[in-house]
Amino acid sequence: MPECASCSAPVQPKWKFCVYCGEPTSADASRPAPLVTPRTNPVAILALILAAIGGAPALIFGHVAMRQIKETGERGLLIARISTVLGYIWLVVWGIVLYSLLTNGQ
Ligand SMILES: [Zn+2]
Repeated sequence: MPECASCSAPVQPKWKFCVYCGEPTSADASRPAPLVTPRTNPVAILALILAAIGGAPALIFGHVAMRQIKETGERGLLIARISTVLGYIWLVVWGIVLYSLLTNGQ
């Protein structure tokens, strides 16, 4: 297991930051430690907006947001989950609407 260069604590390879001292553990980690200042994932917010206006693509954005949140430790996992569920519901609703429009004309 790799060690933190700053405090020598054992760190997971997937961690971008040391959870003990907040120092970046990889060269590409240039943002502040997510445990100190977690921000809400912008894709999750976009998914929620889409879900609120009846957009089925919310489920795609919700999935992307959940994956990003698991990687970055950002806030918004609940928002992403709700948006994904709403996206699936909208997909079913629009499917029913489209089906009834196509079948009622005959
Ligand atoms: Zn450390």
